Amino acid sequence: MPISSDTVIEAPGALILGAGVAGLFTALKLAPFPALVVAGAQPGTGGSSAWAQGGVAAALGESDSWEQHAADTMAAGAGLCDAERVAMLAREAPERIEDLLRLGVNFDRELSGKLALGLEAAHSRPRIVHVQGDRAGAAITQTLAAAARATPSIAFTEGFHVVELAMQDGQVAGLFARARSGASAKLYFFRADSVVIASGGLGALYAVTTNPAEARGEGLGMAARAGALIADPEFVQFHPTALAIGRDPAPLATEALRGAGATLINEKGVRFMQAVHPDAELAPRDIVARAIQREIARGGRVFLDGTKHPGADFATRFPTVYAAAQSAGIDPVRQPIPVAPAAHYHMGGIATGEDGRSSLPGLWALGECASTGVHGANRLASNSLLEALVFGARVAEDIRAHVKPSAARGLPPAPARWHAPPPPQILRDTMSLKVGMARDAQGLREALAAITAVEQAGNGEPALLNMTASAKLVAAAALQRRESRGAHFRTDYPQSSATPTRSFLTLADADRLMRENDEVTPATGALDL
Ligand SMILES: Cc1cc2nc3c(=O)[nH]c(=O)nc-3n(C[C@H](O)[C@H](O)[C@H](O)COP(=O)(O)OP(=O)(O)OC[C@H]3O[C@@H](n4cnc5c(N)ncnc54)[C@H](O)[C@@H]3O)c2cc1C
Repeated sequence: MPISSDTVIEAPGALILGAGVAGLFTALKLAPFPALVVAGAQPGTGGSSAWAQGGVAAALGESDSWEQHAADTMAAGAGLCDAERVAMLAREAPERIEDLLRLGVNFDRELSGKLALGLEAAHSRPRIVHVQGDRAGAAITQTLAAAARATPSIAFTEGFHVVELAMQDGQVAGLFARARSGASAKLYFFRADSVVIASGGLGALYAVTTNPAEARGEGLGMAARAGALIADPEFVQFHPTALAIGRDPAPLATEALRGAGATLINEKGVRFMQAVHPDAELAPRDIVARAIQREIARGGRVFLDGTKHPGADFATRFPTVYAAAQSAGIDPVRQPIPVAPAAHYHMGGIATGEDGRSSLPGLWALGECASTGVHGANRLASNSLLEALVFGARVAEDIRAHVKPSAARGLPPAPARWHAPPPPQILRDTMSLKVGMARDAQGLREALAAITAVEQAGNGEPALLNMTASAKLVAAAALQRRESRGAHFRTDYPQSSATPTRSFLTLADADRLMRENDEVTPATGALDL
């Protein structure tokens, strides 16, 4: 038994997995209720949050309204958004931006002193607050991390790799995490009455992604392995414009560049998006991504041309993209940048209610690992940091109102193996080739078989099981959804069905689907959340 009393850590209040925007903001909103944040990376540096470029969406402009923000979100979500949750998101957005301003986030302003609002794809109004052009994610996470470090009720443990949820009597009782590697590796049990998963997305399960290496769906996978209900896992958003400069992960060229007037051209210098959609380069992400993919599939190349707009302002307005291009020997003021689509954002996740509660007692989830219903089949740009903020406040309020410390219990069963490997390349290649932007039944069945083979070869290692569980849920739900909608495109079912329905399933449903190779009845209880 690897757990002994010196490897048990009691969390006095809430235990939060993840130190991105979702985890940090929840911890701050919980204060003075105690929170212990456990994460792999240092707060303020790891996760996708620190890499976010565009900013946060909120209806703050004079010609804007939360209703208009909600309408744009619903339109992007292609019929699958939960209208009540979307209204909640858009209505509460300005308050959460106020929170960030109070905490010291230095959003860009116009000369008049008003917040400068950027325009991004599928937003009908300029409504993206940003920092130093494209540095919103870094600025927000660093501000939140500094504020959290200065808050006495928040404690941090860095350098832990969480591998499994601890369950006791049907209740979530904490987390198992490993620290260090090789012969000195140790397994720890973090005990808590309320556990919050804020572990980010799963882009790194794909071979081509904009996400950091730790975004491999482990939080989602461990919740699913413990029996949590999962919603809409088939919906993975591919960002149209990752820099095609041979890097893993691929640097992102933010959508705001197209909002600022940059155009997409092929190798002949011809703009092709005008023929595809009335909004051309600012069409919804899935449409732009598939149009680029078609150009690449016919043997062409695609470039983002910012030489006219933003032109000479490129370095000051988009310093992150400018630096990434320069590092590959490209001067984006003079040369178009080669781009390709990459796995970017997971709309699906742990199914949660309006207060972030999952279907497992004692477990909350928020941020990219959760599915609140606000993104539907396709996320509207810059709504994900917002979702983390809005639901962070809600999760904190719910925990503060309802969680009472309980008496210490015995130790739950610990995982036997826990060396925590990276995702095998075969898994990443399978996801990109067969569970990517264009899917069909045969490819998805092949993917499920390949994922199972990886799972079996892992010999019970929990971190690998987390990854294969997430991969399996994406592929199984994609196989079950016999239509095309938003980010999910089936070449064998190119039409959308007349009656859009969200997917709710458990890992057991996905396993049954694989065994029976047929449709399964969706899990019950989804609407009770
Ligand atoms: C390049 C890029 C640009 C983006 N731009 C924008 C944008 O402009 N606007 C917008 O709204 N969204 C944007 N997004 C999406 C957005 O950044 C993410 O959806 C959001 O930051 C997710 O926040 P999070 O707190 O849920 O997860 P993350 O920020 O990913 O944090 C996850 C945390 O969990 C930890 N973790 C994960 N697994 C484990 C484990 N097993 N053990 C221990 N710790 C673990 C990580 O170390 C990290 O601390 C962008 C994403 C990328 C990749």
